[in-house]
Amino acid sequence: MKYHIISLGCPKNTVDSEQFAWVMNSAGWENSDEPDPSDLIILNTCAFIAPATEESLEYLSDLISWKSRKPGRKIVLAGCLPGRYSDDGSGGLEDIDLITGPGDWRKLSAWLGIASEGPAQVLGHGNYRYLKIADGCSNGCAYCTIPAIRGKFVPRHTDTILRESDLLVQQGAGEIGLVAQDSGNWRQSGADLAALAETLAARHPSIWWRLYYLHPLHFPHRLPEVFSKFSNVVPYIDMPVQHASDSILERMGRGHGVRTIEKIMEELDNSPVEIAVRYTVITGYPGETEADFSELRDFLGRYRSGRHIAAFSWYPEEGTLEYSRAIARGDAVDDSTASGRLASISAVGDSLYADWDERLYGRELSIRADDKITGHTVWDAPEVDAVVSFTEPVIPGSVVRAKIVESSGAVLVAEPVN
Ligand code: SF4
Repeated sequence: MKYHIISLGCPKNTVDSEQFAWVMNSAGWENSDEPDPSDLIILNTCAFIAPATEESLEYLSDLISWKSRKPGRKIVLAGCLPGRYSDDGSGGLEDIDLITGPGDWRKLSAWLGIASEGPAQVLGHGNYRYLKIADGCSNGCAYCTIPAIRGKFVPRHTDTILRESDLLVQQGAGEIGLVAQDSGNWRQSGADLAALAETLAARHPSIWWRLYYLHPLHFPHRLPEVFSKFSNVVPYIDMPVQHASDSILERMGRGHGVRTIEKIMEELDNSPVEIAVRYTVITGYPGETEADFSELRDFLGRYRSGRHIAAFSWYPEEGTLEYSRAIARGDAVDDSTASGRLASISAVGDSLYADWDERLYGRELSIRADDKITGHTVWDAPEVDAVVSFTEPVIPGSVVRAKIVESSGAVLVAEPVN
């Protein structure tokens, strides 16, 4: 019997899908890379904002017609869509054979009639993989649905994380990203994320370790020191700052003011190691004035460590505090203003890249090859940030020394030197 997994959304969902794959294989099913030859498809959904929910529902409707084309086919609906929306009995779910919440591999095991003792394991392949160090979030930002979907912050145990790191390396990983909703909040017996990164880097010295989702409130300030001690902990910070105006940060419920993120950026800029920061921000937040927006734009262009900006407009998500508050106050920002601000942020993003282009041009760097012709630097996360094109074929998965012969924004061209 064959199964296929469709994994939507964030890297945390990718890890959940790999746990589902491990369960299916343990039950004797065979993985299929294609949907059609499969007898069962697991749709691991995302639903934290409206566009993600719509995409998940579109996939679900395609799967229902896939099922109708051959008797005996099965659908498992998993992840954040069922995590956020319960079955209200209005129908339309009768074609689904099993509904499980986010990461609920035990429910899948029980349905397949196999045991589910001990921590889940992961089954996957590829040169870069993700390792989930915690799940859920206890911050409760006013615009966010994730705590309601995934529950409170629960750190995974150090031993489980170390064991899983060994498994990922055995399965061929060359780069591993540490992920959680709020990675900096991870702590175990006095050790924090910085200490965990050091332990993993020493345990697997040939692996590149990358840190994602560092909320400024729980930022491990020892990270620059870790980057200088362990060259395989890549000097990259994925930091959802969300905004840089005190009044908007307060309204969002971020638990800190702009001075907190300014201090972090000053530390990173003053570090002897060249560090790249990926900012995630929300523009057009209810109550955002032109002055608030200028503070955000000025902040994003101010620090030499700033490299990438992922900007989104605010989405009115039902069930969040901000949804009802914006309606009550009537101070949502109109769409054209919001999209104008989004465009203005993207111009700041271009200027950050232009600054890095000047710095990278002509330099010899270590670049991880993602396939025969492309790769990424330590300052770029695979599949989301800037891409390197090699001037000649290289060995996929290897780390190539190469000279940057062209650099224009999110595309770098590199000539292998040995
Ligand atoms: S920290 Fe992130 S996941 Fe947690 S509530 Fe805030 S936005 Fe949501």
